Amino acid sequence: MSVLVVGSVAFDAIETPFGKTDKIIGGAATFIALAASYFTKKINLISVVGGDFPKDKIALMQRKGINTEGLQIKENEKSFFWAGRYYNDLNTRDTLITELNVLANFDPIVPPSYQDCQFLMLGNLTPTIQRTVIERLHRRPRLIVMDTMNFWIQTAYEELLKTLKLVDVLSINDEEARMLSGEYSLVKAAKKILSLGPKVLVVKKGEHGALLFKEHRVFFAPALPLEEVFDPTGAGDSFAGGFIGYLAKTNDVSFENMKRAVLFGSAMASFCVQKFGTEALLDISDYQLNERVRQFVDLMQLEGEI
Ligand code: AMP
Repeated sequence: MSVLVVGSVAFDAIETPFGKTDKIIGGAATFIALAASYFTKKINLISVVGGDFPKDKIALMQRKGINTEGLQIKENEKSFFWAGRYYNDLNTRDTLITELNVLANFDPIVPPSYQDCQFLMLGNLTPTIQRTVIERLHRRPRLIVMDTMNFWIQTAYEELLKTLKLVDVLSINDEEARMLSGEYSLVKAAKKILSLGPKVLVVKKGEHGALLFKEHRVFFAPALPLEEVFDPTGAGDSFAGGFIGYLAKTNDVSFENMKRAVLFGSAMASFCVQKFGTEALLDISDYQLNERVRQFVDLMQLEGEI
């Protein structure tokens, strides 16, 4: 099944305790599409960049099977730019700069060839634009997964609530779940968020794994204890790409299958954080992916009787 990915395609500048980058390629949709490309070759991208975005990076996405027909290039404008600095624990970060640039007036055009969309991944972007994409699809996709972040919860709360009503799965981190719900307990937060529209909630907790909530059911998957984490940027998006990619590949949106999708999402996130930016997502073999997922399964295994 094909996956339609909407979100930012951007320049990022990142500071971690291990180093600092100049402007490198990032953006939510970039991470999502690259991660999802390991599960299905039919990935359609909707986003916008400025004339400053390197054409060879677009070609690279195409080589990974990502259809960029819906990627608009505004030659006389600048690409979205985000800068962030991580603390020593790598779980917390400060946003230093958010320059919307081309995203400020982005009108997402859905090419006719994208209309058969079954799996829609609304990556981090203005909630109004996320909603516009849903409205511009002639048929509702089978599954709509949405991500957002503190920036939009703080600056576009009402719009976010309207978009939330239309989605099936919301995938956010623990800090965002608390901010969105006003509840510190993640169980209470999940209850509130599930009353806002989504039927399923994924709460990502960085190095502490991820929780999956649906009605009264909860599933927990650990994160892989990694010896070295270089850059957590894009981990949430890589998770989302692996999650929806796996669901699209298996064409099964049951809660049981979503548990498996959480493992594949976590595996993609674990690759992502091992190098700066998108680098670690460029060349993962089937063997490496399967081996990583097996390590997750081993982590969750209990032997003997309880
Ligand atoms: P993550 O680490 O998964 O939360 O995602 C990081 C990516 O999100 C970076 O590559 C940024 O370019 C992108 N990003 C940061 N802020 C925003 C925003 N306000 N809207 C859209 N994308 C953003």
